[in-house]
Amino acid sequence: MFSVAAFGLVANSLVAALLSHDGHGRRLTDDLRPIDCHGGDAEEPLVKHTEVRNSIQTVGVMISGAFLWWKPEWKIIDPVCTLVFSAVALVNSVKMVRKIVDVLMESSPGEIDVKRLEKGLCELDGVVSVHEVHVWAITLGKVVLTCHVSVTLEADADDVLRKVVEYIRKEYGILHITVQIERR
Ligand SMILES: [Zn+2]
Repeated sequence: MFSVAAFGLVANSLVAALLSHDGHGRRLTDDLRPIDCHGGDAEEPLVKHTEVRNSIQTVGVMISGAFLWWKPEWKIIDPVCTLVFSAVALVNSVKMVRKIVDVLMESSPGEIDVKRLEKGLCELDGVVSVHEVHVWAITLGKVVLTCHVSVTLEADADDVLRKVVEYIRKEYGILHITVQIERR
């Protein structure tokens, strides 16, 4: 039983090593990392979650391996860990697939309420109306927004533009914003 547990520890450590290696070598993740000339860093939750999840699983696998080393009779912990991590992986895969489908269908990302965003913009000083609002994800975690904003004759267009961009960034976390200011 002890040798089985020892083999389990070695195997689990190997898996852990493979997992952590995978965490550093993923091309897809590298491509998702944004290049920001202004030092912003608000845009990589997906990448971070994946890495945190991998290290949590790695630590979990190592702990269960160590447990088997000390207490071989607790071998139930291995299938339990496998089940738990499989469930976590499945849930995350479903979420990921849903996001990929959103990107492919060019639909508005689920977390952005466009109607609420339009209403929020209309409440800003100098804004008369908002139209042509388009929000879509061009890739995972990278949301783009374009809109037309009509302003009053007296409004300072630069000031309104700054406020509009600030509002969208702060309230919705969208960093890629194109605004057309129109005078009414
Ligand atoms: Zn327009």
